[in-house]
Amino acid sequence: MYQSVTADDVACLRQIAGDENVLVSREALQMYAHDETVGVYAEPEVVVRATSAQQVSQVFQLAQRRRIPVTPRGAGYGLSGGAVPSCGGIVLTLEKMNHILEIDKENLMVVVEPGVITGDIHRAVEAEGLFYPPDPASLDSCSIGGNIAECAGGPRAVKYGVTMHYVCGLQAVLPDGEIIHCGGKLVKNVTGYNLAQLLTGSEGTLAVVTQIILKLVPLPRYQVDLLAPFDSFQAAADTVSRIIANRVLPTTIEFMERDSLLAVEKLLGREVPFRDAAAHLLIQLDGNHLPSVEADMEIVGDLCVEGGAIDLLVARDRATRDRLWEARRKIIDALKHASPVNHMEDVVVPRARIPDLLKAIDAISAEHGLRIMSFGHAGDGNVHVNVLKDDMPLEQWAQLIPAIADQVYRLAISLGGTITGEHGIGAIRRQYLPLALEQAQIDVMRRIRDAFDPNHILNPEKIF
Ligand SMILES: Cc1cc2nc3c(=O)[nH]c(=O)nc-3n(C[C@H](O)[C@H](O)[C@H](O)COP(=O)(O)OP(=O)(O)OC[C@H]3O[C@@H](n4cnc5c(N)ncnc54)[C@H](O)[C@@H]3O)c2cc1C
Repeated sequence: MYQSVTADDVACLRQIAGDENVLVSREALQMYAHDETVGVYAEPEVVVRATSAQQVSQVFQLAQRRRIPVTPRGAGYGLSGGAVPSCGGIVLTLEKMNHILEIDKENLMVVVEPGVITGDIHRAVEAEGLFYPPDPASLDSCSIGGNIAECAGGPRAVKYGVTMHYVCGLQAVLPDGEIIHCGGKLVKNVTGYNLAQLLTGSEGTLAVVTQIILKLVPLPRYQVDLLAPFDSFQAAADTVSRIIANRVLPTTIEFMERDSLLAVEKLLGREVPFRDAAAHLLIQLDGNHLPSVEADMEIVGDLCVEGGAIDLLVARDRATRDRLWEARRKIIDALKHASPVNHMEDVVVPRARIPDLLKAIDAISAEHGLRIMSFGHAGDGNVHVNVLKDDMPLEQWAQLIPAIADQVYRLAISLGGTITGEHGIGAIRRQYLPLALEQAQIDVMRRIRDAFDPNHILNPEKIF
């Protein structure tokens, strides 16, 4: 169905993007053959580093003429194989379009190119007293274009929502090469279908985003963080429900189980605070009025103690806060260190059902004799479930993982949840889509994709 990239195509791409931005060396093709998803690998035939929307448009015109698949790529930090070129062809990386174009303080908006690293946006707007809340744990590595494509979330989603809640406008290139401008620096806009929101979370299957307008909010003046260790996971999970029911809205409520903490210790080579606790809650509150932030923290602290917290560690300055967050930020690396072959799921359930989810996951772990470590965003119901291969023979592991994934997905769905909260369907969850969505929904989604890309040259073999 697709054509291979020829020497003529490479010459044409060099004319479009310049010699230095068209890569065909072995090392380059290997470098762009994977993201951060364990076990997903496919080499492109050529890599193009675009520097403008016009170049993206010209690449698409060539790809359409020649029926060559195009896979957009940000920083390659995805966890569902979305940037992996499953059908070969062109990897179109936006890494060189990495400029913050404008911080508009009058309209509280920032205009950026897709290759900007998300943490750089945070730092740039915070220097102006403004705040871009979405904070994926990968923020110092991933790009904002990838965040738009995945509708990335992060710990602060509890209070501030996820990427889609900040996208006001997009410039994007359609697979036929047409450049469109959706939305703008507008807080309200109901002019036709909201294509900027449709593209957000579309996993690079509908268009390539080349410029982004994001809403900002004022930077909260005060922030207090609290680490609460519990000697049972159930007690920690019940405390989360009680905090929410008390109508205090923390910025984040993260949880970590003991096994994950011990894995972090091994990676860091030193002890983490409260290493013997069965579970930790990491709670952050922010606001502009210090007495009310402190008053809310008092309520949260009391609820933790009533709920069985063994101790409380409060951070009011950056150094202490970084110490409290270090273990949480290192978990994914620590799990890879503990077992280089592992499998991560990203299910989401109504937050009150987290205890039920974790209890059932313990049973799945016992049933298969595999270590399963869970951590994640207790405040929004999004749990990262990590299955470790350890010393199980590879063949047995490869047979078991689809069955375990199926069990975990059915479990999340039975609790009113779904199969991915922030990492996306990508290449690795395609076959499970019918578990989570009605056939009629899948059919509508396919027709939307066909409307954007009738020849299926953009990021094939993703989502469906
Ligand atoms: C250690 C670690 C921690 C993480 N923590 C979080 C977390 O807390 N929350 C969270 O949500 N995710 C998290 N992730 C997952 C990942 O970082 C996010 O999905 C992120 O949005 C990926 O961005 P990227 O630039 O690396 O995208 P890539 O991996 O390069 O691409 C991801 C997808 O976006 C598409 N894409 C990229 N750029 C564009 C564009 N300009 N136009 C159209 N499509 C495009 C690609 O085709 C692909 O489908 C984590 C990953 C790691 C490794």
